[in-house]
Amino acid sequence: MSDEEKKIRCSFCGRSSHEVSSMVAGPSVYICDQCITDASGIVKNDLSQEKKIEQDFRSDLKPVEIKAYLDEYVIDQDEAKKTLSVAVYNHYKRIANPQFDDDDSEIEKSNIVLLGPTGSGKTLLARTLAGIIDVPFSIADATALTEAGYVGEDVESILSNLLQAADYDVARAERGIVYIDEVDKVARRGDNPSITRDVSGEGVQQALLKILEGTSANVPPKGGRKHPEQSFITINTKNILFVCGGAFEGLNEIISRRLSSSSMGFTANHMDKFDKDDPQIFTHVEPEDLQKYGLIPELIGRIPIISGLEELSEEAMVNILLKPKNAIIKQYQKLFRMEGVELEFEEEALKEVVRLALKRKTGARGLRSILERSMLDIMFTLPTMKNIERCIITKDTIVSSAPPIYKKRKVSA
Ligand code: ADP
Repeated sequence: MSDEEKKIRCSFCGRSSHEVSSMVAGPSVYICDQCITDASGIVKNDLSQEKKIEQDFRSDLKPVEIKAYLDEYVIDQDEAKKTLSVAVYNHYKRIANPQFDDDDSEIEKSNIVLLGPTGSGKTLLARTLAGIIDVPFSIADATALTEAGYVGEDVESILSNLLQAADYDVARAERGIVYIDEVDKVARRGDNPSITRDVSGEGVQQALLKILEGTSANVPPKGGRKHPEQSFITINTKNILFVCGGAFEGLNEIISRRLSSSSMGFTANHMDKFDKDDPQIFTHVEPEDLQKYGLIPELIGRIPIISGLEELSEEAMVNILLKPKNAIIKQYQKLFRMEGVELEFEEEALKEVVRLALKRKTGARGLRSILERSMLDIMFTLPTMKNIERCIITKDTIVSSAPPIYKKRKVSA
């Protein structure tokens, strides 16, 4: 090796030219192949981090794909799923393409209202959507809110919770999903607002209006770790998707009255279709029905997408027990499998759980607690029982806490 060659060393790691495979020379500097590989790795990593920060939510999923995900977790409610899939697709497409924001025809935000009986899947739909798109999610209760200056929670508290769900990442919070439950409870009462004006309810609607349409709100960080020195954090609500939900009791009568009056002259048979107790009645809702119910027109204007959920049938409720990815029965079966026991439910047992849940009138919400009560004794004793291979839950187990059928494993002598 010549003296000249010995003098050539990588300016980064100091290795000499005979220690490395190749050396690239610049004006009075050298870099070895090893350092080039390391440096290119660092650059690549930085670039991908930047990309991730720019777009850490999924705007690539098409409506059909979003619905397919929803189908894995939510039973029935097809119309609502379709409506939500399109709304959410458009919402996040708009956020992912800010370059289209600057012309005259600005695309309006598509906030959503879900109407339907309690326990029919409204919250579940909103929560599942947030999971699919990978954005933060929080739930607020409209009845806990008050107009500014009154005792109760300010509307801004909704955003504090979202910020917390986003782990205090403001940019992520600003494209999250907020579910506002029980909006029907802040409706003013009665058809005639001038006579029976419910001032506080209307005040809350006015306060909601601001954040729903898009505003910069000053939010108390509520125990934020990252910004302990800041008393307020500014959050822009322009890209936050608000999903409002409510049971809207009595709205069925308003809808059926409208449908019936607009079908004057039809036969009596047609009138039957608009029966106020029809499980699908909410799927016929129109904005004017909401106004009659007591939502202020400005608020209705800010929630352009209305979707009605059906009351869940007995069959749907059985499916809820069995089919979703994280179905309650699947969870129990997994727990039992850990004990080496196969868990089965007789069909009549499942139907009985559903019947008891229907009696409570809380939709699918009651299913878990009914089942949990029946399973408690079994879960208590099973781990100390020997050689059980199968456990079969019968109708009597549900109705009267009778012991299930246990099948023992054959043990060789
Ligand atoms: P609400 O319509 O009152 O918001 P939720 O979405 O909170 O009702 O439902 C309560 C629980 O009942 C959910 O957590 C879920 O376990 C179950 N559930 C309700 N509706 C459905 C559905 N359509 N598919 C699957 N599970 C459901």
